[in-house]
Amino acid sequence: VFVAFEGGEGAGKTTQARLASIWLRDHGYDVVSTHEPGATKTGMRLRALLLDRETTGLSDRAETLLYAADRADHVANVIRPAMERGAIVVSDRYIDSSLAYQGFGRRQEVEDIARVNAWATGGLIPDLTVLLELPPEAGLGRLTSPADRIEAEPNEFHERVIAGFRALAEAYPDRYLVLDASRPQAELSRAIQDRIRELLPD
Ligand code: C5P
Ligand code: MG
Repeated sequence: VFVAFEGGEGAGKTTQARLASIWLRDHGYDVVSTHEPGATKTGMRLRALLLDRETTGLSDRAETLLYAADRADHVANVIRPAMERGAIVVSDRYIDSSLAYQGFGRRQEVEDIARVNAWATGGLIPDLTVLLELPPEAGLGRLTSPADRIEAEPNEFHERVIAGFRALAEAYPDRYLVLDASRPQAELSRAIQDRIRELLPD
């Protein structure tokens, strides 16, 4: 079972992914809790490059390919091995982040990015994608860490990203759970647990 958490900045992906992982572990499941970008040794180096795009003038296409490279390494070294041993994988971001940010956000061809990522991952798609929806002003306001470069993008960029996630959720309703991230944390985690429960082996 593979569950991905998606959403814009400050939507609570990391928190809800962590709560879901704890809940699963409490129920005795083998859980691999992971994130993108930067979950592997190579990924950490790629993350450093990706988050420094302003200083280096990283081009949009190169950015897309580096995210895909990070994801390829993540799947090969973390996600596939975990799934092969029967663990439940919970990831903070996955392919749909690239479709939303590099595709809708940076206005690159979404179909092309989908193809590159399908190749990078060997076609691995989550069983469930949890989308935490929050208007950009609310999300950016919630961030506590010092401006993490991309958050310095104009509001229209974040609007496009969020609209992109919404479009993806509408295109793949079967694997998407869309939640209003402004709801209380406990309500959100209960809704997520209810949905994950349907996917669990007994
Ligand atoms: O999720 P996290 O905050 O670790 O992501 C780091 C940064 O990378 C975020 O600011 C996010 O907007 C950006 N990002 C991106 N494209 C992706 C994934 C993340 O621009 N495909
Ligand atoms: Mg986070």
